[in-house]
Amino acid sequence: MTKAQKIIETLQANGFKAYIVGGVVRDRLLDKSLGDIDIATSAHPEDVMRIFPKTIPIGLSHGTVIVREDGESFEVTTFRAEGEYEDYRRPSDVEFHDSIEEDLARRDFTINAMALKQDGTIIDPYGGKQDLLDGIIRAVGDPFERFQEDPLRMMRGIRFHSLLGFTLHEDTLAALIDRAHLLEKISVERIREEFEKLLAGAHAEVALKLLIDSGMSKHLPHGPYSLDKKEYDFDWKILYDDVQRWSGFLLRIKVADPYDWLKAWRLPNQKRARVDSIIRLVRSDIDFQSPVNLYMHGLESLEAVHKVKAYLGEKPHVTIEEMRESFTRLPIQERSELGIDGNDLKEICNRKPGPWIASLLEQIEQRVLEGSIKNDPSEIKEWITKCHQLPEND
Ligand code: ATP
Ligand code: MG
Repeated sequence: MTKAQKIIETLQANGFKAYIVGGVVRDRLLDKSLGDIDIATSAHPEDVMRIFPKTIPIGLSHGTVIVREDGESFEVTTFRAEGEYEDYRRPSDVEFHDSIEEDLARRDFTINAMALKQDGTIIDPYGGKQDLLDGIIRAVGDPFERFQEDPLRMMRGIRFHSLLGFTLHEDTLAALIDRAHLLEKISVERIREEFEKLLAGAHAEVALKLLIDSGMSKHLPHGPYSLDKKEYDFDWKILYDDVQRWSGFLLRIKVADPYDWLKAWRLPNQKRARVDSIIRLVRSDIDFQSPVNLYMHGLESLEAVHKVKAYLGEKPHVTIEEMRESFTRLPIQERSELGIDGNDLKEICNRKPGPWIASLLEQIEQRVLEGSIKNDPSEIKEWITKCHQLPEND
């Protein structure tokens, strides 16, 4: 907090108002670990850039400048009111304001619409502090209008439900059910970002149930979804990264072809492929201790498969520790550790390079992993010549 305070003091010394706002105020009141610190100020972006030596103008049209302080970044945003939303995109022009109250009025939920003053007191025009105490997620102002302006707020509401375990206020929930169809108007990338945070919440199970029961899932890619019956027995905390959580989720809603399905969610290809391969392995009856499996898929993937299986209530026969031990006992953990490489093979076999190299390397790897030959260059060479493993000429 102290670096943020330094920025605030500098802004004040230049005659501007400045406060810590948003998620950090909420998390501080909840005694939770703090995420990025956002600062709201009456200073306009050009003032901020003039006052601080190191700044990055990341969203000038929305009034946001990053200020670098001692190697850390802080988002400093000018007080603003939201202009008209066009086609559910963020407004292209924003009105800057001189009062923090105006700025708080445009924020999504009461628990996110508080500002922290230097003396530790809180500016809280919408009763955010009381809602935090009562565990309530309530839109600032008229929820129907607020979701109409920016439908992403509905996803945000459900993601805070998942993270905090709070209940949605009656009117906010009614508006969410009524405006759920507007989710189709906004970009999948923005929805995905909130959805991934939802999946990471301690209360993801109830949040997913609400996502389905409220009708929101009908308007998400490939929706609606339905969870398998045993819904409350699942412990999401077992899963510790996005890939594992997507895998768990897709298995729960019984997606047949994950790679294709996730395309509509615009998940980056690499992540899609990871989820796809984890799900395939979960669906197979994999032996977690087989040297070839450990080597081929790698420890990270097999650990992910282990976690997802455990999440689904399947008890793998080996523990993760046993799996790690088996991995450390492997004669080689990656191809670069093999006692021989493609160039050596070319010389030993006296042949032009070709696909035969990869296939021979694989055979050698397999035997080294099984322990039928030692990972020793001369022993490998002997095996190649003795067993006439020289493939036919291309
Ligand atoms: P996190 O801890 O996950 O970062 P956060 O509440 O800080 O949660 P951000 O996305 O970082 O969430 O947004 C910062 C603040 O900006 C929010 O607390 C809220 O006041 C405001 N905000 C963000 N998105 C919206 C939105 N779509 N509509 C209105 N206000 C928003
Ligand atoms: Mg934040």
